[in-house]
Amino acid sequence: MALYSAAAAVLSGLERGEGGLKSLVYGSDFPHARQLYALVAETLRYGPVLEALLDGAALLRAEKKLPPPLAKGIKCGGRWKALARRHRARLEAELARLKVRRGVSRNEDLLEPAPGAGPEAPQVPRYVRVNVLKTCVDDVVEFFKRQGYSFLGKAGSVEELRTLSGKKFLLDLHLPELLVFPPQTDFHDNRLYTSGHIILQDKASCLPAFLLSPAAGSHVIDACAAPGNKTSHLAAILKNKGHIFAFDVDTKRLATMNTMLMRAGVTSFKLTQQDFLTVDPHDPKYSKVKYILLDPSCSGSGMVTRLPLEEAAPSAERLQALAGFQRKVLSHALRFPAVQCLAYSTCSVHREENEDVVHAVLQEQGSAFRLVNAFPSWPCRGLATFPGAECCLRASPVDTLTQGFFVAVLERCGEEAAVPSSLPAATDESLQHEEGVEPGAAPPRKRKRKKQRVKV
Ligand code: SAM
Repeated sequence: MALYSAAAAVLSGLERGEGGLKSLVYGSDFPHARQLYALVAETLRYGPVLEALLDGAALLRAEKKLPPPLAKGIKCGGRWKALARRHRARLEAELARLKVRRGVSRNEDLLEPAPGAGPEAPQVPRYVRVNVLKTCVDDVVEFFKRQGYSFLGKAGSVEELRTLSGKKFLLDLHLPELLVFPPQTDFHDNRLYTSGHIILQDKASCLPAFLLSPAAGSHVIDACAAPGNKTSHLAAILKNKGHIFAFDVDTKRLATMNTMLMRAGVTSFKLTQQDFLTVDPHDPKYSKVKYILLDPSCSGSGMVTRLPLEEAAPSAERLQALAGFQRKVLSHALRFPAVQCLAYSTCSVHREENEDVVHAVLQEQGSAFRLVNAFPSWPCRGLATFPGAECCLRASPVDTLTQGFFVAVLERCGEEAAVPSSLPAATDESLQHEEGVEPGAAPPRKRKRKKQRVKV
């Protein structure tokens, strides 16, 4: 199936309310889900602008026989392409006029704010995770400099990320392998992306693997893994040493994931199409699994890039059903006998899927597991719905300039569980800036960090 036909089918499905964007994209027969997602998402975002251009350029009058309108017309990519080529000058002139009329200079500024988002709705930067299995931060920085971007060094505050514009980029202040570009920078066609040297991943979505931080050589389960961004991040942290058991129920998402992991140079993993709830924790295969990353299906209510026609806020029944599944899957994960540390995450802003799930499961576990006070310098904490909930992390477009997200790190009690080794260094460095230490000044003596645990 051709890309444009597949995109048309997804757009029509959205119009008819047959599902959300992601489910329709992954339910499509088109083999390259990301490419399809990007095309549909951009078409939806720019839909009103494209309509305005077509109207303004009066193509209806210029052409006797037009392909059908946008959503349907995209099916005949060939006919629209030929038409656009024929009227290129007219369309470009209309684009210039539109910008003058709206008093903007860039195409992105023509975009309408998302429905429900006020004009002040924050925009999330483009985060680029450097895939250290294939390259290193310095080489990627040099590459982008050669592409005409100016590198401004390491960000000192979230405010610096907020004001990023034009062809400038920064190194993130919290995560050491994350570069930050202005919102709407698009690298889907960039060579580094198509070759797996960089991963386009929101900063908040990098937190679970970063906080879990399995030691190289460990056995790790990624319980709900597709399409695999967090799996590839885990593999990078493991330096491809050890083993990742990744599960997902969705065949198509697993196929995409397999391609993505190969492209990212991930080895030592096994993808299994299986309901994680049916995986036997006592199977000897998993006897050395010390770390579990659990990022189950959720309402997705934290995704600020939700597009026109995407699902509205989840109903109370849907939230209840999701929370029931999340509780079950979290309890199941904690049944693996060797597990020491688990990162639970969602891209939901609803406490029902976040703090409530964690609290219910911890209560059910008695004194077997506790919350780790992860990343103490992270500014946005769990909602105070139970004692210790502030050990959890939240992320939001306003406070952390990311998608809305939630992470909790649990560890087995009574063990010197592996505390995420990458945290202290990153935290100390970000604290240096927060505490106003001059750049270039001698770094403060490294504090010996005590694990902070909270019992609930
Ligand atoms: N961790 C992924 C990443 O970073 O790319 C995203 C995971 S997505 C939020 C949730 C995934 O859970 C979906 O791919 C869905 O198919 C999968 N899933 C849902 N129920 C499952 C189950 N019972 N067992 C395993 N996977 C499941």
